[in-house]
Amino acid sequence: MKPEQTEVWSPVPRVVTPGANDSAPPSDAIVLFNGKDEDQWVSAQDHTPARWIVHDGILTVNKKAGNIETRRRFKDYQLHLEYRIPADITGSGQARGNSGLFLASTGPGDRGYELQILDSYHNSTYVNGQAGAVYKQSPPLVNACRRPGQWQSYDVIWTAPTFHKSGALKTPARITAFQNGVLIQNDFTLRGETLYIGKPFYQAYDRAPIKLQAHGDPSQPISFRNIWVRELP
Ligand code: MG
Repeated sequence: MKPEQTEVWSPVPRVVTPGANDSAPPSDAIVLFNGKDEDQWVSAQDHTPARWIVHDGILTVNKKAGNIETRRRFKDYQLHLEYRIPADITGSGQARGNSGLFLASTGPGDRGYELQILDSYHNSTYVNGQAGAVYKQSPPLVNACRRPGQWQSYDVIWTAPTFHKSGALKTPARITAFQNGVLIQNDFTLRGETLYIGKPFYQAYDRAPIKLQAHGDPSQPISFRNIWVRELP
């Protein structure tokens, strides 16, 4: 054999210009929060414009306004998000900076598939509910949390579940995730939606918004910045 016989020349991967740094969106990303407005978001409850607080380039949870979700619906994607637990956070266990990134919002409230956001820096709780857990299904591989007051990142690759016409599951959802550049979920296969109570199960959907949680815990609200997503074919 000649070396040329194992060379592949097409199709040529299309060009994507990376962001200026790892926080900045690449050229083919959809920016979900750019520091200026929350136009990409609506109330998850009634789909009216989102009423969280935008100030100084950051988005802060408004607990009274409830969860927010994207206007757009997604299937498979790569997502980048940054969050900050307040430096003066109080509370313990699940009541300390609780929020969440719902990879797919399949209904109101907390319905969907949640990657937990919580202050898990020297704060213990059930491990499948700590920061970086696929809620009540998969603890993070390691605890890569920074101390409160510092910005932290999630980089997620989400493969949505697929369903037969009958509604039966065809292929389950999978997630790979990094927290602050550290691998915390390695191609984990989900057992269904993430439930607070009971065993997970799947319910058919096609495309779904991405949702952020306004958790009812009494601790101070957390903030977000630099949220973008790249749809995957
Ligand atoms: Mg949560």
